[in-house]
Amino acid sequence: MRTMTKRFRCRDVGQKCGYVQKAPTTEELLPKVEEHLRTSHGMATLDPEMRQKITAAIREVAPPAAASATSVPQGIPKSG
Ligand SMILES: [Zn+2]
Repeated sequence: MRTMTKRFRCRDVGQKCGYVQKAPTTEELLPKVEEHLRTSHGMATLDPEMRQKITAAIREVAPPAAASATSVPQGIPKSG
């Protein structure tokens, strides 16, 4: 199973905003981020420069449920 996930934080593109979005791939992440910028920051259209900013701000992170350890104990309780 793939373990890495893509994460975008709005403040990484200079917004004073606590918005964080995650998705398995950049392709899935970008539309969500764009929608947030449209609805919450009034950016009707994203120019290539902004798009590049967003792409540059995207980080790869390991999701908490899948720790990087190779031997993960079975039966981890799920909460929430
Ligand atoms: Zn935002």
